[in-house]
Amino acid sequence: MTASATRATARAPRPARTPTATATATATTSPTTTGDSQVAGPNPDPGGDAHSNGEPGRPGDLCHERQRPCPDRASRDLTAQIAYLTRVVRAPTIAAVWADLADQARADGWSHEEYLAAVLARQVAAREANGTALRTAGAHFPAVKTLEDFNLDHQPSLRRDVLAHLATCTFIPTAGNAILLGPPGVGKTHLAIGLGVKAVQAGHRVLFDTATGWVTRLRDAHDEARLAHDLRRLHRYHLLIIDEIGYIPFDAQAANLFFQLVSSRYEQGSVLVTSNMPFSRWGEIFGDDVVAAAMIDRLIHHAEVLTLTGDSYRTRNRRELLAKTSPSPSSAALTPPTVQPTGQVTR
Ligand code: ADP
Ligand code: MG
Repeated sequence: MTASATRATARAPRPARTPTATATATATTSPTTTGDSQVAGPNPDPGGDAHSNGEPGRPGDLCHERQRPCPDRASRDLTAQIAYLTRVVRAPTIAAVWADLADQARADGWSHEEYLAAVLARQVAAREANGTALRTAGAHFPAVKTLEDFNLDHQPSLRRDVLAHLATCTFIPTAGNAILLGPPGVGKTHLAIGLGVKAVQAGHRVLFDTATGWVTRLRDAHDEARLAHDLRRLHRYHLLIIDEIGYIPFDAQAANLFFQLVSSRYEQGSVLVTSNMPFSRWGEIFGDDVVAAAMIDRLIHHAEVLTLTGDSYRTRNRRELLAKTSPSPSSAALTPPTVQPTGQVTR
């Protein structure tokens, strides 16, 4: 036990016999089962009798002779009790921070309410961080990309207001969609992941895959006669990301499966799609103008469309790098010569 914990507990008043404490005492005489885990508890009866009767000491016990709490034993037992209780309520962060925060509370004169709020806030923050990490892993993003890393200077015509609106994720609870269109390399996948990360941070469940990946999933489900079941199960995801529609044309079955996916999401859950093809050419992707039109209709009914333009970021970056590191002979030839005061001409 730390010094702070000892101080924290040694001065604690003798806890009253509360329903919680009584229940705890009953439950902890043997290993306690909570949910699917077994938690072995100390003997934390805070209202127990003095240990002068020969029984094991308990928090709040009084010293035999002087009839006052034994600081060491009381604080040890209170610490054990807190450790036990935080395990039962599955609050490991509280277990980790309560003693230090108690020190801080004493030093800064916090009220009991302020101390309680601080301890709970730390637990909630830790739980949210864990939830975000789990949802991020479950989303299967292909890379780590954030909106903050996206260089907007390379997309001067991008609607920043629309991007900012999408980043708030308010379109997700209303089952709205987002559509990112533009040629290869302009950052559609980057933005799709960045928006997916925002959604995860806002507490939404997200699932990312490429269009061909989605078709493979749907085909497998169809072949195993569980398509309807799987489409229903996808409703547990608030946002599905379908990346790269258009790179590979779909056969008739794939187009049909894809249509079923989009239809099942309509006004039920959000979809974010990216495509290198304008809507006018989606008939070529799906091999059928009518299916393509029906799909576009459902996608854009409640959607924000962002159009990206320009050169591929990769090739532009490479060009700029090459220009900086090794000026070509032609660019050197274009540099005007400098005439020195001596009359000497230099390049
Ligand atoms: P697309 O999906 O449109 O083909 P990507 O999103 O895959 O393009 O972008 C290609 C690469 O260039 C990625 O590594 C991406 O992070 C990067 N990139 C593209 N545009 C930008 C940008 N404006 N700012 C920062 N990185 C960018
Ligand atoms: Mg892409």
